Amino acid sequence: MEILDGKKIAAEIREEIAQKVVEIKNQGKKTPHLVAVIVGNDGASRTYVNSKVKNCEAVGFKSTLIELPDTISEAELLNKVDELNNDDDVDGFIVQLPLPKHIDEEKVTLAVKPAKDVDGFHPENLGRMILGLPGFLPATPAGIVELLKRYKIETSGKNCVVIGRSHIVGTPMSILMSRNTEVGNCTVTLTHSRTQNLSEITKQADILIVAIGKPEFVSADMVKEGAVVVDVGIHRIPDDSKKSGFRLLGDVKYDEVAAKSSYITPVPGGVGPLTIASLMLNTLKAIDLK
Ligand code: NAD
Repeated sequence: MEILDGKKIAAEIREEIAQKVVEIKNQGKKTPHLVAVIVGNDGASRTYVNSKVKNCEAVGFKSTLIELPDTISEAELLNKVDELNNDDDVDGFIVQLPLPKHIDEEKVTLAVKPAKDVDGFHPENLGRMILGLPGFLPATPAGIVELLKRYKIETSGKNCVVIGRSHIVGTPMSILMSRNTEVGNCTVTLTHSRTQNLSEITKQADILIVAIGKPEFVSADMVKEGAVVVDVGIHRIPDDSKKSGFRLLGDVKYDEVAAKSSYITPVPGGVGPLTIASLMLNTLKAIDLK
């Protein structure tokens, strides 16, 4: 079994981006600028956003964190999005999800200008992904594709099973794995909450991508010997023995599934760092699309 080391690959990508940023600056061009908007005080969301901002600074980007109270109205947030859409200094921006219940996430996603939508959530970018046109790929699925590519995992003609059909992970993932591209050409099965006999399907998977959002849901008996397993899940489990007060678990029972896999992503250190790396790759691309 080999670990798909997301931390290592993300560090390589950061190094490549940092070099490109030096070139951009040497050409007298403007420093790429990513803005992250966070609404409210959710601990996990804050950790993700802070990590995004820190990573941007590490590669030489300009990055700005806009913190808004959870009392902000939908109209005020939409005004902020409009302001960022029209600010020439901003190359790309993200609005960290989830948003408080009184704000319609769909409205906010639709309000982001597609050319600055570095999360790749806008329908225009999702449509471009389906047609293979230039645009922003959703960060987490794009990060997984990059990880498979850099580990030279053969995907062509393989059976790929995706668990979960969210708009940000499972659904775009299933599309990317079925496209006629270097990482792709799989026969894809997208499974979800209404799927019958799930483990009969997952046992057929040469590549199993798990984004169900349930801690340690996938056990060894659901996995084929020698499968490639990608665990997208992240869960904070209270743990007094840790300084942080919690430990992180994925959607997969790591030890027993790792013993059966050819390759597997750990949690933490698997998909998470690649999501941030893709966000930065998208920001680099945004300079040309703006
Ligand atoms: P989600 O809750 O939006 O979607 C879960 C999906 O699982 C749904 O589509 C549902 O149909 C499906 N599902 C539920 N029960 C099922 C069952 N019994 N059988 C088959 N399918 C079932 O989740 P999401 O936003 O896609 O996130 C999934 C996980 O990935 C979460 O733990 C989330 O925290 C994590 N995540 C990680 C990253 C990262 O960067 N590593 C990014 C995004 C999400």
